[in-house]
Amino acid sequence: MAAVNQTKIMFANLMRKKTPKTICKRCFSVTRPVQNDKPLIGFIGLGNMGNHMARNLVSKGYPLLVYDVNTDAVDGLKQAGAKAAVSPAEIASNTDRIVTMLPASQHVQQVYAGDNGLLSKVVKGSIMIDSSTIDPAVSKDMAKAAESKGAFYLDAPVSGGVNAARQALLTFMVGGPESKFPEAEAILQNMGKNVVHCGPVGTGQAAKICNNMLLGISMIGTSETMNLGIKLGLDPKMLAKILNMSSGRCWSSDTYNPCPGVFENVPSSNNYEGGFGTALMTKDLGLANNAAKDTNSAVNLGREALEIYTKMTEKGYGGKDFSVIFKILEEMSGPEVEKKKKEFFD
Ligand code: NAD
Repeated sequence: MAAVNQTKIMFANLMRKKTPKTICKRCFSVTRPVQNDKPLIGFIGLGNMGNHMARNLVSKGYPLLVYDVNTDAVDGLKQAGAKAAVSPAEIASNTDRIVTMLPASQHVQQVYAGDNGLLSKVVKGSIMIDSSTIDPAVSKDMAKAAESKGAFYLDAPVSGGVNAARQALLTFMVGGPESKFPEAEAILQNMGKNVVHCGPVGTGQAAKICNNMLLGISMIGTSETMNLGIKLGLDPKMLAKILNMSSGRCWSSDTYNPCPGVFENVPSSNNYEGGFGTALMTKDLGLANNAAKDTNSAVNLGREALEIYTKMTEKGYGGKDFSVIFKILEEMSGPEVEKKKKEFFD
């Protein structure tokens, strides 16, 4: 309760910086949640995933203070009712509950420990939840740095994709002190349907990179299968229907099919825009392969998948959804398939 009161006061101070006219207009949308006893939440990283996650917090009545290096993304959230900060430090000095959703380890290090980073101004007792998928070792470093300031850092990477983020159906895999899990869960459950405590800090990331290694492999498998079936003369929708009622079914076939036109509202039906970038999948497979080396685990398909997505990223597909592998395989088909394969992958 003390934390709630503290954040109310801090948010009120922040609002006082505005002109009276602006205060009236904005207070209507941002102070309403405070009346409902919802604490101010800081949110950093408003990309494909974070943008929807932040919007879900706003729609559940949380006052939100947001930051992103991309000002268009910030403007979008302002229109949804959030308030903008000029740096992570401004967020840390105004609230004790913070969520970050950034591309990779280096961005997390910058936002937490860089100039004007969260740790430069973090309030004692604050909870900082990082939902980015990053190296578990970096999560552990950030947790140590937070602890030295009397604050808490939990890793809480997600599974589910952009549509799950939009519909608040994500799965959160949380690593951090058990005593802080209920407070983290209270925030995360507004953005997801499953919030699982995996163990100490770093274990959320461990669970996530295992999941994504399987996802990367299964997306390639689904794409090869769909491409082969179409070449055999099967209707793509019918083939997907059969797979999804048979033993070949997986998330890549039944929720996020890579073949355009099988499902609406997935990246493959939108020129592979939005979704989960191939560069991000390459990063996750790199993390999984490094972890496999460190633990002497055999990951033959995991290594092969890393090579395929790395090549795709090098060839300019890094910003496209990772299911674009289907399109690449499709373009490789035909009488000269072996030659085309060699040209692309060697
Ligand atoms: P994204 O690239 O679309 O968004 C990242 C956002 O962070 C961008 O808006 C960018 O401007 C912002 N950003 C980068 N550096 C910043 C900084 N220094 N300060 C403030 N903002 C900064 O990425 P995404 O697809 O939203 O993914 C975010 C994380 O979630 C990644 O770690 C990814 O691996 C993971 N993830 C993504 C998906 C998916 O389907 N997209 C699914 C599960 C997990």
